[in-house]
Amino acid sequence: MSADTLLPLLKSTFGFDAFRGRQAEVVGRVMAGERTLAVMPTGAGKSLTYQLPAVALDGCVVVVSPLIALMHDQLRGARAAGIRAASLTSVDADWADTRQAYRDGGLDLLYIAPERATGEGFRSLMAARRPALFAIDEAHCVSEWGHDFRPDYRLLRPLLDAFPDVPRLALTATADKHTREDILVQLGIPAEGLILAGFDRPNIRYRVGPRVSPARQLTDFIIANPGPGIVYCPTRDGTERMAEKLAAATGRRVAAYHAGLDPERRAQVQHDFVASEDGIVTATVAFGMGIDKPDVRFVAHAGLPKSIESYYQETGRAGRDGDPAEALMLWGAEDFARARMRLGELPDARIAGERARLNALAALVETVECRRALLLRHFGEVPPERCGNCDNCLDPPRQVDATVLAQKLLSAVYRTGQSYGAGHVEAVLTGRSDERIASRGHDKLSVFGIVEGEEARLIKPLVRTLVAREALETTEHGGLMFGPAGRAVMKGETPVLMAEPPVKRTQRASRGDRAEANPVGDPLFDALRAMRRELAAEAQVPPYVIFHDAVLRAMANERPATRSELGTIPGVGARKLEAWGDAFLDVIRQH
Ligand code: ADP
Ligand code: ZN
Repeated sequence: MSADTLLPLLKSTFGFDAFRGRQAEVVGRVMAGERTLAVMPTGAGKSLTYQLPAVALDGCVVVVSPLIALMHDQLRGARAAGIRAASLTSVDADWADTRQAYRDGGLDLLYIAPERATGEGFRSLMAARRPALFAIDEAHCVSEWGHDFRPDYRLLRPLLDAFPDVPRLALTATADKHTREDILVQLGIPAEGLILAGFDRPNIRYRVGPRVSPARQLTDFIIANPGPGIVYCPTRDGTERMAEKLAAATGRRVAAYHAGLDPERRAQVQHDFVASEDGIVTATVAFGMGIDKPDVRFVAHAGLPKSIESYYQETGRAGRDGDPAEALMLWGAEDFARARMRLGELPDARIAGERARLNALAALVETVECRRALLLRHFGEVPPERCGNCDNCLDPPRQVDATVLAQKLLSAVYRTGQSYGAGHVEAVLTGRSDERIASRGHDKLSVFGIVEGEEARLIKPLVRTLVAREALETTEHGGLMFGPAGRAVMKGETPVLMAEPPVKRTQRASRGDRAEANPVGDPLFDALRAMRRELAAEAQVPPYVIFHDAVLRAMANERPATRSELGTIPGVGARKLEAWGDAFLDVIRQH
């Protein structure tokens, strides 16, 4: 059965006119009773590939999902679309009712945690009524190669095999080749069942830059981005300090989130963030996992992420609704220095792998070419050279040949005894004599004052570059010393090209040039948002569950006058039209 026959149902249930990306193929396989592994980026619309069959098929779709918060979020969304959905988790009090409803055929969609799905009780429930589909969300958890192995996932296989004719659908956003192959084996899915969608998230604009004064840089960034956002900070302390500074500087509501807070506070911060249209959270990387907030408008990193994979996953929390979103990363040489220092503490077997991860990050932060192309190549794709939506494409940096300057810099490090910091080395190179330099005789060295004028401006950025490339390392006390790649650079054997640091670029009008910015300040749009807030509070759901921003924008533009006109706007399904249509039509009439 082709997925196209489900188009009317897609429209009436979800309000969408067409499948997106490879959804149609996945849905087609599910409807044909086949086994499938769908690897699709965050925001691609994975949940629709089992929620639509849940409505179309007789019987209930069972979804195994590892995070309660995620399940409940999905549950709200599904119910708002009129799907009969329930969950069996440790925090649900209505187990008996849910089980009964399942037995009576009163459910379309049932969410369950892996540790519960593997028990006898659940097996007999499944035996009482054959499910229509087993969907296994976050399927990379089944693989030890994945970054998030969960032993419970390994125990799912006997349940699946007890119902061999029930189709299986495994879903994940992050799985490299190794992990994908493992998932197929572990869950008994044939190789031809793999559907691999592109990794690109074209609506996310990537920016990467040196961290000069993080609070100020982030303040500017936030002021240009009025929507909800996440700022990742490397430490718990850092999240709290940054929250205070950003709140004071921007006047926005900013909450800190980290594992050291008590669980109630964490739940509160998360809840408020999900419900808000402009909240900001400063967080350690734990935050965001299992949060399915589609309208996150920006993700900023105040320090270097752990790997390209983590960076991609964390930035992927922005813009799931497809609207423009921004990702900003600020990095410093000390991030690389610290990470390289930690390499020494690892077991030998892991060092090479971790070093490769760091080198890949170094390439990302340093490139003068398209950031997106580099990211996509990392995931095995063959992207176009330029994306037009990253800092380097929008505002191409000039590349300078710093090979000779790097030789001078390294010889200054060498001659001063490999123990002074970047400031001292810079002073020596530029011939700035002070007491410290004179007392150590550094003004007598051949490298004293050999860098002049314009070139001096490049010294600090060059230190960053050389640390990222392992030509320099930092000592315990913050001094610079040679790294493994240092000697070849000093001898001039390795050319050093680097991006020319910006000469104070004029601030790009970050909102004005957006394709589809929200018309905040437009009275109709604002009134529609106010109505959405009111209805959301009444229904006790976050505003985006009612309608996404894009839907409100379309309402403001098209000004539908009747229910049927309103129903043609993408995202307005039959159920939502009936529940909330009139309220919005009233608002439009009054403006
Ligand atoms: P994922 O689980 O893959 O991260 P979601 O299932 O949360 O993504 O979907 C992301 C967003 O895309 C949701 O807001 C959803 O409503 C929207 N979406 C899904 N399918 C379609 C479609 N065919 N057309 C338009 N929007 C869609
Ligand atoms: Zn680009």
